[in-house]
Amino acid sequence: GIEASLRELKQLADTAGLLVVGSTYQKLSNPNPRTYIGSGKVAEIKSAIQAFGVETVIFDDELSPGQLRNLEKVFGGDVRVCDRTALILDIFNQRAATREAALQVSLAQMEYQLPRLTRMWTHLERQAGGKVKGMGEKQIEVDKRILRTQIGVLKKELESVRKHRKQYRTRRVSVPVPVVSLVGYTNAGKSTLLNQLTGAEVLAEDRLFATLDPTTRRVQMKNGKEFLLTDTVGFIQKLPTTLVAAFRATLEEISESSLLVHVVDISHPLAEQQIEAVEKVLTELDATSIPKLLVWNKVDKAEDPEKLTLEAERRGDVICISALTGEGLGDFCNAVQEKLKDTMVWIEALIP
Ligand code: GDP
Repeated sequence: GIEASLRELKQLADTAGLLVVGSTYQKLSNPNPRTYIGSGKVAEIKSAIQAFGVETVIFDDELSPGQLRNLEKVFGGDVRVCDRTALILDIFNQRAATREAALQVSLAQMEYQLPRLTRMWTHLERQAGGKVKGMGEKQIEVDKRILRTQIGVLKKELESVRKHRKQYRTRRVSVPVPVVSLVGYTNAGKSTLLNQLTGAEVLAEDRLFATLDPTTRRVQMKNGKEFLLTDTVGFIQKLPTTLVAAFRATLEEISESSLLVHVVDISHPLAEQQIEAVEKVLTELDATSIPKLLVWNKVDKAEDPEKLTLEAERRGDVICISALTGEGLGDFCNAVQEKLKDTMVWIEALIP
């Protein structure tokens, strides 16, 4: 619902380094064309802005450029108004650590701008009563052409960067070490698990998108066998489709894994929905044929850990762990090994 979505938006704002002083919502049959929210709500937010010295107002839904401008005018010159997509793009921008990620972010930003460019000019035209029509259209075409050229250049560069990564991956695949990918909803505890297992210093913090780039570590098990463990960018329920497409490369690794470990924050009230969101993206990525291991993480935080363990035993296909305390990691490694054995059998069965 609205409240869960706003909670997630708050987490995103935290991740972007903003301090959230409050949130509010309004149910309208139709958004106000000028300000998106009604005038009463605008006044309410304005007084909160003055009371707390608010610098940024974030809307969970997409605003038209006209609405953005009108709201900024009402709220005062220094207040920045933005929507969820712009916020996520900010985070991606801050987190882009590699050349590929940086290129992906720039591409996503330009693709975000392209349709907004049109709407901005259309809006200006309407404001001028259609008098600037010819000029506006010409200007849109010029601006669009510039942006499209830049997008084309970026895509080519991205392709070449990806090709290099692919070559590296191909070499890695030829080494007989299975690749295990951690997938899961953002904040589920993937980096924490990776750290626990490998001592790798991957950023683990209570922020969304702590891991933007695929990070791979080698895990050695007690029996001497090893596997490569890869962390992936976290999924998010309301990730705009334009961003999903731009970040596909980051998730491409998934389709080359021997095993997917789906990490779930089982203490989260929306755990079920989050599992569904991840499954949906995996289907979109054609990754449904890869063996999967479902892991219920943060059992230490769960209301009734015992009940969870019983439920997991009843289902038989779930491993309960706490990536934080290390509880259940032995079982986890055994389950990974068991799953990998299955895949080896499967591969051998294919060889004549
Ligand atoms: P990621 O986005 O999936 O990589 O999630 P992180 O590994 O960054 O973890 C997100 C937050 O959850 C961090 O504050 C972790 O300390 C916390 N966390 C991860 N695993 C556990 C766990 O098993 N128990 C508890 N209580 N917290 C955890």
